[in-house]
Amino acid sequence: MIFTTKEVDFAIEINEYGQPYVNPYFGCTAGCPFCYWLSIPGWEGKIDIRLNIADQLDRYCREREAERPRLYMGSYCDPYMEEVETEYQLTRRCLEVAARRRFPLTLCTSARSDLILRDMDLLRRIPELTIVAELCRLDQMERLNRGEDHVGVRMANQLSCAGLRVNATFAPVLPGVTNLAAVRERLAEDIPLYIDVMHVEKGSVQETRILERISALRPDLLDVYRAFFAGERPEMDREVLEMAGGDNIRLFPMED
Ligand code: SF4
Repeated sequence: MIFTTKEVDFAIEINEYGQPYVNPYFGCTAGCPFCYWLSIPGWEGKIDIRLNIADQLDRYCREREAERPRLYMGSYCDPYMEEVETEYQLTRRCLEVAARRRFPLTLCTSARSDLILRDMDLLRRIPELTIVAELCRLDQMERLNRGEDHVGVRMANQLSCAGLRVNATFAPVLPGVTNLAAVRERLAEDIPLYIDVMHVEKGSVQETRILERISALRPDLLDVYRAFFAGERPEMDREVLEMAGGDNIRLFPMED
């Protein structure tokens, strides 16, 4: 992984739904095989550290103080990657801006660490804050399978217990690999858990990576997954969709 420091000309990018996104970093260290961003040329294998991101965000917020649109943080990065955020604290500095300028915020984190707890003082001050804890981390599923805890579930519970609004996601659910029942059982009852099927194209880099991981984790399921990617997906999708409904398990789209 190559780490590079950079200055950016603006903090905000508008996604396809018209939502303003801020990413303190470009790139991610989580290595999820299903990651949507793997298809973006130049995204994988490097982390850009956007040193002036908070100053640029402050400028954006100052110019839009009349409307105060909801900000979204964390799409193609995890704002709480310990490898960089512990030292650079760019996420923390962006939160300081959102808190001071009183901008509503949806904060998405891949929930591999509980570094977010460091920022509890700021999180409490941000209006209409929603924290999205993305729990679909295969390393954490392996911890659960060994009888250890899931760091993201523990973190989500702590944030919720502190009175903050938390949504959890598990997207995608990987049938045979994901123990969704174990996640739901450990997650605080009042935290909604949003799930989704795999949205992976035939012949994509994601297909290759997922098959590699299935081969390592559940070689007995390799043929099932190969069949899924060959087009026999309705059965596996149905299996996932039927998990929603009870126990505060919901389907996307998620509410802010
Ligand atoms: S945590 Fe999110 S951004 Fe990072 S690799 Fe996984 S899916 Fe991609």
